[in-house]
Amino acid sequence: MIANPTVSVIDRVLMQEALKQAQLAFEHDEVPIGAVIAYKNKIIAKAHNQVETLKDPTAHAEMIAITQATNYLSQKWLKDCSLYVTIEPCSMCAGALVLSRIKKICFGALDLKTGACGSVFNIVHHKQLNHKIEIQRGLFEDECGRLISDFFKKKREAPGIDLKDS
Ligand SMILES: [Zn+2]
Repeated sequence: MIANPTVSVIDRVLMQEALKQAQLAFEHDEVPIGAVIAYKNKIIAKAHNQVETLKDPTAHAEMIAITQATNYLSQKWLKDCSLYVTIEPCSMCAGALVLSRIKKICFGALDLKTGACGSVFNIVHHKQLNHKIEIQRGLFEDECGRLISDFFKKKREAPGIDLKDS
């Protein structure tokens, strides 16, 4: 069950920062997903998807942000931190976020194919895992989702990919 606590001004500001990161990914020809992690409302990590740039299937925005945040805090857990991410985390990221003991995840658009915060899997509330994460969803949902659909539209229209005109 996905809860949706009241959205604060701070939530909106932090999600806008995550959107800026997603835009950066778009500009680098990466699937446009951005994330920030806040500790006591201060941003301690900002990242965007870098799978293509780093040739690393684990280089999702959330994974990079987790490492930045734990480095910043010099600790392995993110107990008093919140993650703001433009798209619902996948199973890898949701698993890593459970391990990090993060307090809250706020995501924009659902990922109906691989989402692991309630859409396809619900790793963040799995009864056999020892940490449950507060979930907030739908903030700037349209903007977050539009970046992804624009990206794949651009890919489909790219020269050399569209075979029907050749
Ligand atoms: Zn992921």
